[in-house]
Amino acid sequence: MKPPPFAYAAPGTRAEALALLARHGYDAKVLAGGQSLVPALNFRLARPPVLVDINGIPGLDAIAERDGELSFGALVRHTDAERSALVARRCPPLAKAIGHIGHRTIRNRGTIGGSIAHADPAAELPLVMVALGGRVNAASVRGERWIAASDFFTGYLATALEPDELLVEARFPVLASGATWGFQEYSRRSGDFALAAACVTLSRAGGKVTACSIGVAGGGPVPVRASAAERALIGTDGGSGACLAAASSAASGIEIDGDIHGSAAYRRSLVETVVRRALWTAAGLTS
Ligand SMILES: Cc1cc2nc3c(=O)[nH]c(=O)nc-3n(C[C@H](O)[C@H](O)[C@H](O)COP(=O)(O)OP(=O)(O)OC[C@H]3O[C@@H](n4cnc5c(N)ncnc54)[C@H](O)[C@@H]3O)c2cc1C
Repeated sequence: MKPPPFAYAAPGTRAEALALLARHGYDAKVLAGGQSLVPALNFRLARPPVLVDINGIPGLDAIAERDGELSFGALVRHTDAERSALVARRCPPLAKAIGHIGHRTIRNRGTIGGSIAHADPAAELPLVMVALGGRVNAASVRGERWIAASDFFTGYLATALEPDELLVEARFPVLASGATWGFQEYSRRSGDFALAAACVTLSRAGGKVTACSIGVAGGGPVPVRASAAERALIGTDGGSGACLAAASSAASGIEIDGDIHGSAAYRRSLVETVVRRALWTAAGLTS
């Protein structure tokens, strides 16, 4: 199918883009890498009267470290983040997760901002952002605001962005010194969206787990932290028994929906498996 008719705007500055979004509101859609929006147009799942193509706006494609966080301009392509030595060194779970997004051609065009704004419940970047406690900067003609990942993803393909707001920057905390991590996902074929995915970090001192985060995607409408499992793991030795118990707690403690890709029971079992594997990786255990 061809997309429905739309007006096309290609602003050359951020201010022009924000003015267009302010003028058209719900009638406008931002076009970034087009890897989700263009298929949605072609299937007529989206019919925005106006497309605001942000690819010509300078200054939105930088990766930098700022005050303990990695900063990504909205137009940073997945491939550039995946191949960044800074990302690999300072936030390795993020680098690993990006490698699971679709295929190379999709990662060459798809953007960090687009993936986060699109908010697919099985997408890797929203999961890592929730697991690590990242945040996004939203700009509009009214000003800028930072939104924590825990407040940003509000439902299936839904976020806290207002219709006149442009996601201009995403920040992910660097991995804490001495922390270990694991990222695992299960999909039917390489490059497919995950049926379940987990991103975990572990910090240990004196033979005990002192801090951990367990992020899970693929079970419900938004990626979540398995908070009860995190609390249960802290203070343990982080050994195989503790990791098994935490994975079981994570799978039973979060909302999980069934759909055409798998029943709720199947997905719950997958969540337990990916959390266990991610925790075992982080803990240096062999499965
Ligand atoms: C075959 C296939 C497989 C894929 N597999 C995966 C996968 O395994 N994991 C995964 O995470 N993704 C996957 N994707 C999607 C891919 O990652 C996209 O890059 C991503 O979802 C959207 O990024 P984009 O830059 O292409 O955004 P676009 O498609 O341009 O936009 C997506 C949505 O976000 C909005 N938007 C974009 N940028 C901004 C912004 N800066 N501010 C506000 N709103 C904005 C758009 O208006 C639109 O609603 C797949 C896509 C395809 C086609």
